[in-house]
Amino acid sequence: MVGVIVIGAGVVGLSTAINIQRLLPSCHVTIVAEHIIEGTTSFGAGAIFRPTADYIPGVNLEKAKKWTRDGWDHFSSLAMSEEAGRAGIAITPSFMLSQTEIKDPLYKDVVFTFHDLSEDEMRKLGFSKHFKFGYLVTTVVITTKIYLAWLLKRFLESGGKIEQRRVVNIDEFVGRCDVIVNCSALGSRQLFGDKTIIPNRGQLLRVKAPWIKYCVYTDRDAYIIPNQDLVAVGGCREDNNFNTSISQEDSKGIMERCCKICPSLKSADVYNEWVGLRPIRSPLRLEKEVIKSDHGQLTVVHNYGHCSDGIGLSWGTSMEAADLVQSCLNSQSKL
Ligand SMILES: Cc1cc2nc3c(=O)[nH]c(=O)nc-3n(C[C@H](O)[C@H](O)[C@H](O)COP(=O)(O)OP(=O)(O)OC[C@H]3O[C@@H](n4cnc5c(N)ncnc54)[C@H](O)[C@@H]3O)c2cc1C
Repeated sequence: MVGVIVIGAGVVGLSTAINIQRLLPSCHVTIVAEHIIEGTTSFGAGAIFRPTADYIPGVNLEKAKKWTRDGWDHFSSLAMSEEAGRAGIAITPSFMLSQTEIKDPLYKDVVFTFHDLSEDEMRKLGFSKHFKFGYLVTTVVITTKIYLAWLLKRFLESGGKIEQRRVVNIDEFVGRCDVIVNCSALGSRQLFGDKTIIPNRGQLLRVKAPWIKYCVYTDRDAYIIPNQDLVAVGGCREDNNFNTSISQEDSKGIMERCCKICPSLKSADVYNEWVGLRPIRSPLRLEKEVIKSDHGQLTVVHNYGHCSDGIGLSWGTSMEAADLVQSCLNSQSKL
């Protein structure tokens, strides 16, 4: 039987494993990951669907548009289906606020609606005190802890296997599989010696504010994203900072910034705080590589470095990764 090993069980690893199963049903797919769902960056992310070219530097625009479209088809059809609740996906009105005009973001032409807010609307909503431009966008919000569990269930039900452990050296896979798919995000620094991927530290709080049913996303390190149970309130961005400890100073700053935009948050109780490291790479790496070692040869498909848009881009990039796996197997005459 043809064997594929996927390293990583964040949103990218799980989505890639499922897309390989969909495209190549005869393949035996195993995920090997140190963290399964909990402990991944994906687990704690906001997460709103809003892929933006600025957040995925170095990526070819046409490719980015295709990943955005493919991702939207997936998330929006889920959001409109009876699976929406179980998958943790909700259609959510979202105010995008900025000091500068937001020109043609990748998501503009795919989301359900995208409208400019007039000066009067900005004033009535209390946004004009802080921002010059505003847009009302109907997109989807992904409650990642629910979505990841839904993906894992789907993978296992389709016959996938999972091993929870840290991979120290990829040589262990020589002779054990036909293709390795690398979805280890920042783990690629150690595992594949890629020092061009760096962390971008982000912190958010989850608060109890069931009255907030809309997103606010700004260019001023402030965002509010209602999940199924709690509301995610962020954030901050610090390149090259590996520190995953909670900073009380960051939490204070986040709440101050967000309460200015949404004063009703002042009465929300904080449920927890969380730090995640965004995997920043220019460009996101989605390509094949043949690696030769003393022990033999490995065919690798890389799919990592999704920066700040990894949840939104996960499905689209995973479809392309599955195509790459198919072409590797074809060239090995395994299919
Ligand atoms: C605060 C914050 C808010 C965010 N908000 C959004 C948002 O609103 N919208 C959006 O689209 N994106 C958002 N993101 C970005 C998004 O979370 C990431 O881009 C995405 O989670 C990356 O997914 P991944 O699967 O590549 O990596 P991860 O989720 O980090 O998964 C990596 C996997 O690889 C495994 N691994 C690594 N090394 C090894 C090894 N040596 N051996 C075995 N396993 C290994 C890990 O255990 C894990 O399973 C946000 C990120 C942060 C930090």
